[in-house]
Formats: sequence, structure tokens, C-alpha cells
Amino acid sequence: MSLFERFFKVFSNEVGIDLGTANTLVYIKGYGIVINEPSVVAVNQKTGQVVAVGRDARQMLGRTPAHIVAVRPLVDGVISNFEVTEEMLIYLLNKVAKISKRFIGPRVLVGVPSGITNVERRAVYDAARGAGAREVFTIEEPMAAAIGMRLPIEDPVGSMVIDIGGGTTDIAVISMGGIVKAKNLKVAGDHLNEAIINYIRNEFKILIGEKSAESVKIAIGSAAKLDAPAESPIRGRDLISGLPREVVITDSDIREALAEPIHLIVESAKEVLETTPPEILSDIMYRGVYVAGGGALIKNLDALLFEHLNLPIHSADDPLTVVARGTGIVLEDIDAYRDIIMGSDDELLPQIK
Ligand code: ADP
Ligand code: MG
Repeated sequence: MSLFERFFKVFSNEVGIDLGTANTLVYIKGYGIVINEPSVVAVNQKTGQVVAVGRDARQMLGRTPAHIVAVRPLVDGVISNFEVTEEMLIYLLNKVAKISKRFIGPRVLVGVPSGITNVERRAVYDAARGAGAREVFTIEEPMAAAIGMRLPIEDPVGSMVIDIGGGTTDIAVISMGGIVKAKNLKVAGDHLNEAIINYIRNEFKILIGEKSAESVKIAIGSAAKLDAPAESPIRGRDLISGLPREVVITDSDIREALAEPIHLIVESAKEVLETTPPEILSDIMYRGVYVAGGGALIKNLDALLFEHLNLPIHSADDPLTVVARGTGIVLEDIDAYRDIIMGSDDELLPQIK
């Protein structure tokens, strides 16, 4: 090990970041996951300054004076607002330095959606460098998720991963350290919330907010019939009287609301399977499909997927952290994973079709 390397080992961090549309997680080598916050930044529009990040910023949503706006810097998994993303990374890397008391720019490994364009990938490098990272690598999120779930990604056996996040669902087939087939679908948790809002507006003539929709989804949302019926009160504005009103929603209402977007996810998984080479398909038939991301927590999604795909379905343990945990595993032995990650100096490779 060179003197430089030793120096960085002592004074600099190695950090994995899952920069999700909904949640941002940060892993510090030697510490584990130390930050887990919603990807929300509150910005003062008059000064352009960041007022709060994460939970604090989300808390402000809808409660701020007009010149303070809460922004989600990522849309559909990619950076939509560069400055705000950079500010968020500055905030996160500052926090990392404080936790570990290592103040030299860290080496950072960031998860990115599969099939991201080179321009989008470049934005990730630039934002992380701008935020003080000394070295930046990216890893495709389904790959990080597979590593986080401890799938044998390097072996000549195929694995299928479905990562249902906030903005996108990433479906990928992985074998021998590479992504053989991938599909990135812009239907995920956020769209399920929207589907609930639309359903309640149409069926009950009540307008509910995004947060209420998410709460009811988490409380009683399911993809297939539950063993015991469940219900939940939901409050919103009566569209006819304009006044607040509460109704009780059942699990079957929410199932109906979610049916269409969930169907789209199932159909995409089918499409990926239909174009997967037969040898790998037989591995997947034997080994099954691995589901990760917050969407994996929808009740009975595994039952529905099994019914439609006729394959064993495994839901990840703690599905919201698999990508961050995957980046952590890679950081533990970065040389072993050098072919799987991409550095800012690597030639930007053509995309997978
Ligand atoms: P991203 O990687 O895009 O940030 P995550 O993997 O963090 O997304 O997942 C966030 C999504 O998961 C949100 O849409 C959230 O509503 C959803 N989610 C979280 N917990 C649950 C749950 N228990 N049931 C259903 N959906 C959930
Ligand atoms: Mg994610």
C-alpha cells in the first residue's frame, strides 16, 4: 500500500450512497448505515439557500411561507435538479465527516438506475465531486441490490431482481457480474399513492393528500386478498361541500386502486423474462425472483407475483436498505468489484439494451 493510500485510509471515508427518489441512505465503511432520510430538500427561493434536508425538510412540506419550497431533487431515479442534489450531497458528506471525524474528501460509491444515460451518470459524478468527494464511483442499483441480498452475482447462474422504489421499478437479470437484461419502469411507490388519490376522488368524491395516500397504502395496501380484512379511516376535502370529511376505506378498495399500476409492474417482469436467454431462465425458475425496495413491503405482492410469473418469489429482508447495504459490501473489497462499478475516469460504456 502506498503512503497516499495509507493516508487516505486514516483520514478519509469510504461512503456508499443510495440516492433514491424517495429515500437517501448513506453507508460509511466501518460504521454501517448512518443516514436514512427522505430525499427532500427545503430551499429558500429568495436566497437560493438550503434551509433543511431530509426529515426536517419533509416536516416543512405544506407548512412553510411561500418563498420556502420543498424539492425532491431526484425524479424517476435521476437527478432533476442539479444544484439541489449537490447541496443535499454537501449536507450528507458533512454529516459523514462529523460522524467519523475524518475530514479529507471521501471515496464515494453512488447507486444509479440501470440504463441511465451517460449524461445522467456524469451529473452524478459532478454533483458528488462538487460536494467534496475525492473519488466517485457508480454502481447500477439492481446490481447493488443483488449484492445487498447476497445473491451469487459473479457466478454463471442467473438471478432476477425487482426493485420497486418511489419513482421507478428496476427489473434486472444478472449473471457473471453483469446485467444481462434490464427494464426501468416509471411505475413505483409514488404512482401507487397517485392511484389511491384518484380512486378516492372518483369513488368517494374526496380529495386526499399525498401523505394520507401513502399512509393508507402502508397501513392496508395489498396486491392480493388478505387473510383478514382491514380498514383505515382517511380524511380529505369533500369535493362537493368543500369541507373536511372522513371515510373508512377497506383493503379491497385499496387493492382495486392499486390493481392497474401493480399489473404494469407484473407485465414488465414478464417482458423481461420473455427475452431472457433460456439457460438463465432455467436458473431463475429454480432460484426464483428477488424483490427489493420499499414496494416489496406491499402486502401479498409475493403471492400476486407468484400467481402471474409462476416462479418462486423472495422478498428481501429489510428491503429499503438493500442497495445501501450492497454499496457497503462493495466498499469492503472494492478491488474485487472493480468490473462491476464505474469510475468517473472509466470510459463511459454504451448502455444495455
Ligand atoms: P427509492 O429507492 O426510489 O428512494 P425506496 O426503495 O426507498 O425508494 O421505497 C420508497 C417507496 O416505498 C415509497 O413509495 C414508499 O411509499 C414505499 N413503501 C415504504 N414502506 C412501504 C410499505 N410498508 N408498504 C408499501 N409501500 C411502502
Ligand atoms: Mg432505490
